[in-house]
Amino acid sequence: MTETQKIRTLTGDVAPSDLGRTLIHEHLCVDWGEMLGRPKVLDFEFDDMVQKMVAKMEELHAAGISAMVECTPIGCGRYIDLFKEVALRGPVKIIASTGFFHESWCPIHPIGRALDLDALVDLFSREITEGMGDTLVKAGIIKCATGEGRISENEEKMLRASARAHKATGCPIITHTTNGMGLEQLDIFESEGVSPEEVIVSHIGFEEDPLDYSEQMLKRGANISFDRIGMKIFFDDDHWVRVIGNAINKGYVNQVMMSHDAAVFVYGLEEASGENVFDDYTYISRVFLPKLQREAGVTDEQISIMMEDNPQRVLTFRD
Ligand SMILES: [Zn+2]
Repeated sequence: MTETQKIRTLTGDVAPSDLGRTLIHEHLCVDWGEMLGRPKVLDFEFDDMVQKMVAKMEELHAAGISAMVECTPIGCGRYIDLFKEVALRGPVKIIASTGFFHESWCPIHPIGRALDLDALVDLFSREITEGMGDTLVKAGIIKCATGEGRISENEEKMLRASARAHKATGCPIITHTTNGMGLEQLDIFESEGVSPEEVIVSHIGFEEDPLDYSEQMLKRGANISFDRIGMKIFFDDDHWVRVIGNAINKGYVNQVMMSHDAAVFVYGLEEASGENVFDDYTYISRVFLPKLQREAGVTDEQISIMMEDNPQRVLTFRD
């Protein structure tokens, strides 16, 4: 890695080698109120929430994790001032997102719908090079997303804008998939000249045949994340041991990452969150990794590759 290479966190750029163990897909906060036409007057007091989140980051840090990607896009509870404060006061490096969510769970933010492709590229690029929203805090990753079974026109526009902003700024891309459409996302990126190796595709393992699907993604060269580990409302640990063990056995350890998709505060989408707010960012470190090692024969070195080397590589800005 050259000296100029960087990963962009909320408290400034860091050398990739300083990142440490990283959770690739988490949230501090998810708030769908604005998008659902029922904006909430947040019922938390700023300092209380900062304290609560910092306490979570301390737990996470004590469990051996030193960085996480906050994947909340524009209009979905991306409270930059809050996140920045948590990053300043807590021990964990936080990487924040520009970009928009998909439109099958709730409408895409009006700004995202209204802007054309070029204007979206400008918006994402500005958030990366100047600052997110009305702040001077820069985004370190571009988030984009697709719904279930198809990629809508607006979602495709977001994927293309993400690809072009990535090419313009070097900023990494992370995507959300909903039970599939990861391969179709790669097709769109490739048509924009962005290769699968440049992309992180999240929520793999939810497809009809997760072993085969994840292998197809890996064969294309994509980086994939298995990232609702610990959320038992979806799958138990056995499922994740099976799909991750398979990916490693097939020789793809360099493309696999793990995370929880947890959040401290969730509001406004019963279908997606309901009573099941999952806020244990230590589950993988405490419970899952020992199980993965025990049951799938994964080595310490392979764990380090997935938790440290891979995030470090994929989160580094391209020249
Ligand atoms: Zn997420």
